[in-house]
Amino acid sequence: MTHLRSKLMNVPFLDLKAHHAVCRAELVNAINAVIDVSAFAGGPFVNRFEEDFACFCEVRNAVGVSSGSDALWLALTALGIGPGDEVITVPMTFIATVEAISRTGARPVFVDIEPVTYTMDPVGLERVVTPRTKAIIPVHLFGQMPDMAPILDFARARGIAVVEDAAQAHGARYNGHRARTLGSAGCFSFYPGKNLGAFGEAGAVVTHDVRLADRIRAIRDHGQVRKYHHAEIGWNCRMDGIQAAVLQVKLRYLEERNEWRRKHAAHYARALAGIAGLVLPICRPSRTHVSHIFAIRVPDRKSFMRHLESRGIGCGIHYPVPVHLQDAYACLGHCRGAFPVAEQCATEFVSLPMYPELTSCQIEAVVQAVISALHPSPTYA
Ligand SMILES: *Cc1c(COP(=O)(O)O)cnc(C)c1O
Repeated sequence: MTHLRSKLMNVPFLDLKAHHAVCRAELVNAINAVIDVSAFAGGPFVNRFEEDFACFCEVRNAVGVSSGSDALWLALTALGIGPGDEVITVPMTFIATVEAISRTGARPVFVDIEPVTYTMDPVGLERVVTPRTKAIIPVHLFGQMPDMAPILDFARARGIAVVEDAAQAHGARYNGHRARTLGSAGCFSFYPGKNLGAFGEAGAVVTHDVRLADRIRAIRDHGQVRKYHHAEIGWNCRMDGIQAAVLQVKLRYLEERNEWRRKHAAHYARALAGIAGLVLPICRPSRTHVSHIFAIRVPDRKSFMRHLESRGIGCGIHYPVPVHLQDAYACLGHCRGAFPVAEQCATEFVSLPMYPELTSCQIEAVVQAVISALHPSPTYA
């Protein structure tokens, strides 16, 4: 009976409707407040969200911007990175990390990820660093921070900036430290599907460095330091008032929602432990994982995903092609085999449904589908 029910249960990959149902009235009030005072581009709602988000991140300054991609570009630009410079990052990330480097005119340089946490392998840094290296961008993939200590030590010893791509890691910690307070700056995305998501596009840069924050504030607003007085060439990367108001409401729920995600990840891990042919995500003891994405690895992904989909289970791939093998980056001249861990993961990763509002029944339905996909038996046929 249980089996029959779980077989028929639809589990979407992501359910933003369920996510907003709880606080919908609050969100509508917040949007109305913005309409009441017509503070649509930057302004008081953005200022208030920045204060709250800085407080959440335990950092002195937060600058609200138009997207996570712009947050990365702004941080690199405000650090003075441009043509002739090199920036080290990983090939297993969303392409925006690498595009931000290219947008400054600098050259992206890759190191492979480690096979356990799927984050930057600090061992690779020594091999690729040059006198032109100006920054390192570790990516907190899936909600877990990499081994930051050796990365920070390496950078500090050479006067290189560390810009954290924390787009998937709102609330993550490393040895108790929040994402981003360790390096020069941390960059967040509030794309709707992220752990903290807006009602459209938004992002933020956080930093302890007041001068860096001020420069980012100027660049996001056409280099403007006083009305119509422009100290440098900037761009329009402001955050919308409506996004700020929505984010301020949703931020109050974030810690609790991250806790729910961790509970669901633990549920998956318990129920799927010891299954042959399946690699589960691992959270290192020194880290607080915020389970943005629950990615498992399976050998025959195509048939695995077909099986899950036939049972109404939504799943995704993050990411099927590592950045160094994307056509857009053919110009860098990397061949297949250049970053073997990233390449292997790209062929095996499958992301299971993960969002705070998942129910135990839904998780069980996913678990049964995963087991039956890997070990077809009459019981589960
Ligand atoms: C989402 C994401 C970005 C880009 O953020 P946008 O707000 O969509 O521009 C950058 N890096 C990573 C790792 C991401 O997941």
